[in-house]
Amino acid sequence: MDTPMIQQYKEIKDKYRDYIVFFRLGDFYEMFFDDAYICSKELEITLTSRDSDNKVPMAGVPYHAADQYIAKLVAKGYKVVICEQVEDPKLAKGIVKREVVKIVTPGTITDLNALEENKNNYLGCVFKNKHEFGLAFVDLMTGEFDITNLKSSYPYHEIINEVSRFSPRECLANHELSQEKSLNRKLKENLKLCFTFRDATYFDEQSALILLMSQFGEEKIKKLENRKPALIAAGACLRYLNETQKLNLSHINSISFYENHDFMVLDFICSKNLEITENLRDRKKTGSLLWVMDKTSTAMGARLLRKWLEQPLLDILKIKQRQDAIEELFNDFFLRSDLKEQLKNIYDIERLSGKLVCGNANARDLLAIKNTIKSLPQIKHILTRCNSKLLHQIYEQLDPLEDICLLLEKSIFEDPPLTIKEANVIKDGYNSEIDMLRKASREGKAWIADLERKERESTGIKSLKIGFNKVFGYYIEVTKSNLSMVPENYIRKQTLANAERYITEELKEYESLILNANEKLQELEYNLFCEIRDQLIKEIPRLKQSAYNLSLLDVLLSLAEVSYSNNYIKPEVNLSDEINIIDGRHPVVELTQKEELFIPNDTQIDCSDNLISVITGPNMAGKSTYMRQVALIVLMAQIGCFIPAKKAKIGIVDRIFTRIGASDNLALGQSTFMVEMTEVADILNNATNKSLLILDEVGRGTSTFDGLSIAWAVIEYIQKNLKAKTLFATHYHELTALKKLKGVKNYKITVKEKGDDVIFLRKIVPGEADKSYGIQVAKLAGVPNAVINRARKILVDLEQNQTQTQGELAISHIAACSDKSSQSTNEYQLNLSALKNEEIIEQIKSVNIDTITPLEALNFLFSIKKQL
Ligand code: ADP
Repeated sequence: MDTPMIQQYKEIKDKYRDYIVFFRLGDFYEMFFDDAYICSKELEITLTSRDSDNKVPMAGVPYHAADQYIAKLVAKGYKVVICEQVEDPKLAKGIVKREVVKIVTPGTITDLNALEENKNNYLGCVFKNKHEFGLAFVDLMTGEFDITNLKSSYPYHEIINEVSRFSPRECLANHELSQEKSLNRKLKENLKLCFTFRDATYFDEQSALILLMSQFGEEKIKKLENRKPALIAAGACLRYLNETQKLNLSHINSISFYENHDFMVLDFICSKNLEITENLRDRKKTGSLLWVMDKTSTAMGARLLRKWLEQPLLDILKIKQRQDAIEELFNDFFLRSDLKEQLKNIYDIERLSGKLVCGNANARDLLAIKNTIKSLPQIKHILTRCNSKLLHQIYEQLDPLEDICLLLEKSIFEDPPLTIKEANVIKDGYNSEIDMLRKASREGKAWIADLERKERESTGIKSLKIGFNKVFGYYIEVTKSNLSMVPENYIRKQTLANAERYITEELKEYESLILNANEKLQELEYNLFCEIRDQLIKEIPRLKQSAYNLSLLDVLLSLAEVSYSNNYIKPEVNLSDEINIIDGRHPVVELTQKEELFIPNDTQIDCSDNLISVITGPNMAGKSTYMRQVALIVLMAQIGCFIPAKKAKIGIVDRIFTRIGASDNLALGQSTFMVEMTEVADILNNATNKSLLILDEVGRGTSTFDGLSIAWAVIEYIQKNLKAKTLFATHYHELTALKKLKGVKNYKITVKEKGDDVIFLRKIVPGEADKSYGIQVAKLAGVPNAVINRARKILVDLEQNQTQTQGELAISHIAACSDKSSQSTNEYQLNLSALKNEEIIEQIKSVNIDTITPLEALNFLFSIKKQL
């Protein structure tokens, strides 16, 4: 038979089967049964048991340290329910009432220590109906809420790309999505998503609309009424937040619907390959584009910059506005350093707003808000020196929040305690009752201090002491040797080994005055703190407005500073189809390169004569670096930033596609070649004549003939059908024959031979590489001399063999290339199957026409046809 407490526990646990229940018992949160086993293992805490008859497994953590344990569980993907005592145990009749007060999940955690400072923590929702997907992403701490609709089409690249851009820690989804096994798997495995599935009622349209209208206002939601799936996803997110936080989330006060064609599409693979926010090696920020560009001073700025990098612009006016602001900051060292100095005092008021609403802000957080606000007038003043539109707009929109500053200045102590239930949060002079109580407490303490002197004098006991402890309160202590001198009015309270402790009536009177005053003070200070906090909550839209403008300023400053210190220039960004870069550099490699100086290179791509560059050159020559450099320069230009080059004209691209290296997905059960081909298929199906394609070694994952044929056909297709600007690096020198197609140009990365060695010159020039220099590169890499020498010999043999059997080896035979006049792609067919053809000829020769029957002849023809 369970005890009443365990019964109460089981009732609660029944409602939260998939969660770990933190059950408050006095100063501890206890976990029971299976939860106890999980927690003892995951948190490395002791497993004990309660209830000696039934042996209930139990593990617990002290309540004051619970946050860190909860964060640890949530980081491992668990969801935690906090169950508190909701009545005073002293007043409770029978078992203390307990209720679930909060649910903590990966997407809804509010403990700032558990969150990455420079990254948003999104809760996502993917809602699927028959023809469309509704996507929603909300950051509980900053209040950002973005939603969109996508058409339902296989193979779901767009959905994965969109979800990956936000990388939510947790994603709500309806059961229709759980049916889409492959999408589900891709989302889970590529993005490490933690799914929370809900049934159809959770995605009810009417309830979603009602909920959204009450949060954002009827007018705003009515304007979005034709975006149904997105609204349903948003409704589900809001409902989930309300359920988990059990609070009025007033700081989530705006919602924005975006179209995914508002920005340059940077798909998941492309961001990964171009190492935009993390490197390919260990997925950390070091060595990524973000690492170079991020000189922000605030966490808010760092988050916004990340967003900018993930969402390059298509709107030329917006790009130019950013460029102009950066140019102004770039050109004025003092403007930059004055602003930078002020930004040092800016705290993360965006997340502090979330903390206010979620009820875990303390007095130090309010001080951080005040100190931030204190810098605003100075920032505004500095901004009066600016002329560019965007900086001027920041000046105009930056609300100095003087009233909030005044309120906090008057009310909160400069050095407040960590917890809000301690005294000394509220300043003297803010509230007369507090002043009175403090005076009483101070006077009482002074009176007691004075009493010690008076009693020593009147009794003649020099060692007499007045002390305080929690059990007995104030007492007078007299050592045993002086007991004879104790006056009559002392009342004995406690005997120690070598002293006695006494009280007097007067002492107790002052004691109760002090203790009452302290107790009342604490309560009053707490109430006032909550009042001030609530006043701030009402001002959150204004706080957030200033927060956004500060983060914008921070990002522009960061980009200006990076541009200045790395010697970038302002590119001409236009709507043409031309990308012309003089002396372009790779923004990351030029900074990380230790031994070699970075060699700049030019680029000319356009939609007529220079549509496709076929780039050859030995391994390690710099082909990948060059191609990535072009992509990164275009991307930086569309962010509005300056770029690493001497001069550049960048015609806006709608999307950058990359197919680079062997991004092996063997863990997902896909072979390297399959992955490569899926990526190629995605590119060929989605690229437009406004896209930029970076193709590195397409076809490498299969046999030479297969690979070469595919690479060949891909280039032809791009040239004929897509007309997308393309950089195509390859090992197949045979592809250089494609220069006969209009728009295809050959480039090589130059190297110099010096004896047996090869020196990389890193310069890209028109033309075809003649050799692979594989053996020289192997030598450079430190392959033993014996192997190098043997390889040289084999190579010589092979080359001789090749000349002897010319015409039989198929690779270099491009039959129709001799017809120079025609541009039709059909005429450039590869004669890859020369060997097979000879075999077929042999078969035909062997047929005896005189003896063959009509049926045999037919079958023979059939078998020949099958081989073609
Ligand atoms: P490939 O793709 O031709 O095999 P990579 O692009 O990987 O060659 O370049 C190999 C190395 O050469 C890079 O890691 C880089 O250190 C160096 N490198 C590439 N391009 C340049 C350059 N323009 N200037 C200086 N060093 C470069």
